[in-house]
Amino acid sequence: MARYIGALCRICRREGEKLFLKGDRCYSEKCAVERRKYPPGQHGQGFRKLSDYGIQLREKQKVRKIYGLLERQFRKYFHNAERKKGITGEVLLQLIESRLDTMVFRMGFAPNRRRARQILRHGHILVNGRKVNLPSYETKAGDILEVKEASRNIPEIIDSLSKSEHRGIPGWVEVDTAHSRGKVLHIPSRDEIQLPVQEQLIVELYSK
Ligand code: SF4
Repeated sequence: MARYIGALCRICRREGEKLFLKGDRCYSEKCAVERRKYPPGQHGQGFRKLSDYGIQLREKQKVRKIYGLLERQFRKYFHNAERKKGITGEVLLQLIESRLDTMVFRMGFAPNRRRARQILRHGHILVNGRKVNLPSYETKAGDILEVKEASRNIPEIIDSLSKSEHRGIPGWVEVDTAHSRGKVLHIPSRDEIQLPVQEQLIVELYSK
């Protein structure tokens, strides 16, 4: 599966805000957005007025980059959201937020979604007692996620869990740090997902 391997901080600088793509560095003064508040590239500091289409496009790209999704995957989530009951933009975010890689990150087993995906791919995570290595696996309320016993001594996982409270554990998961285990309490509502995005703009973009 293709994936973005470029510099993550450039993505934040392009969007002009912190998207928390790395981990510890995002919470420190080394954060590139804190240090250089203008887009990357030769013309980054020039004035740039976006069209309505450009604004919608940037909003979609922002969500895609936060969750590390390819265009094809993102569009599929959008079509699924359209078919479900509810406000399409909100359902879209809920569907993406239910992904296993995001839940692993939210529970603090990994410092960011990218690492969460790798931890998953390497088979370190169990869902309801069974190994699941599919980042896009859709979690449900009540699911129990845990780090496989043999993997609990992996330094990165220990380090990430120890810092998870500092990063903030969201209200829709419950985490037992001592046992590297967590439970999905419910799928978050839009209000709970504190993302700096206007999902309605994405709906407008795809409705053209
Ligand atoms: Fe974004 Fe984190 Fe880099 Fe800051 S340190 S620019 S929040 S990825």
